[in-house]
Amino acid sequence: MQVEKCPQCGSPLVARTEGGCLVLKCTQCALEAVTTDPQALISDETAYSVRLRPVKEITPRVSASLAVALGIRAQTARDLLRQGGPIATDVSAVEVQRLHGLLSPLGFSLDIKPHFRWALD
Ligand SMILES: [Zn+2]
Repeated sequence: MQVEKCPQCGSPLVARTEGGCLVLKCTQCALEAVTTDPQALISDETAYSVRLRPVKEITPRVSASLAVALGIRAQTARDLLRQGGPIATDVSAVEVQRLHGLLSPLGFSLDIKPHFRWALD
């Protein structure tokens, strides 16, 4: 299967397999996507919205790790956690995967609308 171009910057993509999935990586920008069906993922034009699932306890450490991951202020992160606001709206499937890859190791889980049909790990 041929996947030619990065949807973000138009540079060539390189692909490698990992655990039955294809990992696509842009040769120029930071784009990376994991999929069993790369062409479909890249051409998924759904506009997703991503919210944080509620966390048990909003400690300064939790707010700080979210702030660092998203590049926002700690107070903004804390408000996001308290209010459960969206962290991204109108984003591509590739961006959803990027956010998941960023936030999942920190213990955050994401609520993605509409239903996300691509691999997230
Ligand atoms: Zn790129």
